[in-house]
Amino acid sequence: MIFASSKDLFWIKALADAHRRELGFINRATLATAINTNEILYSPDRGFLHFHHRRDNISTLYHFCVTPAYRRQGIGRQLIEAWEEHSRKSGVTLLRLKCPVDLSANGFYSRLGFSRVDIEPGKHRHLVVWEKKLRPATANQLLRPQFVASFSAGGSELKRLFQLWESGGDSRQPFAHVLYSPIACPASTTEYLRFQKDAGHIKTVWLDCGAYQVQQGKRTYDELLLFLDKFYRNNQWADGYVLPDIVPLTTDNEEIVEYKIRETLYHCERFFNQMPLSVQERAIAPVQGRTINQVNRCLETYRRLGIRRIGFGSWGTSGPNGSVNMLSQESLALFKTVCDIAREHEMLVHCFGIGGPNSYNRLRRQNLIPDTLDSTTWWKAGGFGSIFFPNKAQIQITVRRSFETTKAGLEKLKRETYHSCYFCESIEQLRTNRNHRIMHNLVAWLDTLERDL
Ligand SMILES: [Zn+2]
Repeated sequence: MIFASSKDLFWIKALADAHRRELGFINRATLATAINTNEILYSPDRGFLHFHHRRDNISTLYHFCVTPAYRRQGIGRQLIEAWEEHSRKSGVTLLRLKCPVDLSANGFYSRLGFSRVDIEPGKHRHLVVWEKKLRPATANQLLRPQFVASFSAGGSELKRLFQLWESGGDSRQPFAHVLYSPIACPASTTEYLRFQKDAGHIKTVWLDCGAYQVQQGKRTYDELLLFLDKFYRNNQWADGYVLPDIVPLTTDNEEIVEYKIRETLYHCERFFNQMPLSVQERAIAPVQGRTINQVNRCLETYRRLGIRRIGFGSWGTSGPNGSVNMLSQESLALFKTVCDIAREHEMLVHCFGIGGPNSYNRLRRQNLIPDTLDSTTWWKAGGFGSIFFPNKAQIQITVRRSFETTKAGLEKLKRETYHSCYFCESIEQLRTNRNHRIMHNLVAWLDTLERDL
């Protein structure tokens, strides 16, 4: 992305003329002036973006166009992000633009984190007014956790989903960071993820310890320890290794919880000490407990071992075999303590399996922002026929039951949450295609992370 120069004027004018319906008429002198004042960002042969920084620190988008042949390839997003970046560096605090109500571009702005603030009459049709608040660059980074996609699936299924995501035309990369449990997945999962990492399509792969397999009675803890010992040693290409913990259940009484924490700490330390250095350096240690004393003991042990990243996942469980994670008030309070102590020790904080966008919103309402978080809910909910939008209850779209499961109801939800994506364009697809539900849920997750509350 570069600033247009005078030699680009001819091409930009031609592109603008070809899109008079969307852009209105733009005269050559206006464009020439904007080029001279560095107010046109340009992607050669692909598109341009014309903006103006006002004196009140608001930057207004005047004209924006991507060549039809290059649409759905992330060019538009790159142009808007370049405008945002340039604006932020110039001290701009608010981006503003207007878009005719009937254009599909409205969904695009929503996906980029703009909020719809008004609808006003235009010359020919109504215009939606979109705004995005900008924070200084550093504060912005601190406030956004990194999403880690976590799933349990075979290699060929992953391949299908990765490809489906590509076909949706969203240039974000939800699979750049992944977490999976080798004990719960076939060998093809490891092969596929390793291949994708080698090819540079995935940045980090974390290996989960699969403690829930023990929790659900599918394995004994000793079997798990044996498996992980071998697997971690043989797979030193990964970027994160979750240490094997023993997960307390909501139904466990205090004595059992205490026993499980003691066992966890004992075995984690022993396991850690047996591991080669490259695994130790990338260990992710699970913090367990119901009391401040218990989580503090975990953190002290991990600090002593020199572990740099801890994970918290005691959100309280319910549902069959503890399969549904819920955020209780107590677990939020405990998580706050964990964050405070971990920051003191300069440890990175990960949230294990926090559920859907609503769970994350509950965290950040209390200013609890982890460095990273993972969720499997987007996948699981999609598999069960459900979809979600930020700050709305999950809807089981496969069963026609309420207004929300009708086309009109769904469109209303999309409007209310400023959501649009390729995967929920057709309600029929959502009803019949599991993978479309999964991908839509993933978009809803990414949107939530990018937007302000
Ligand atoms: Zn969608």
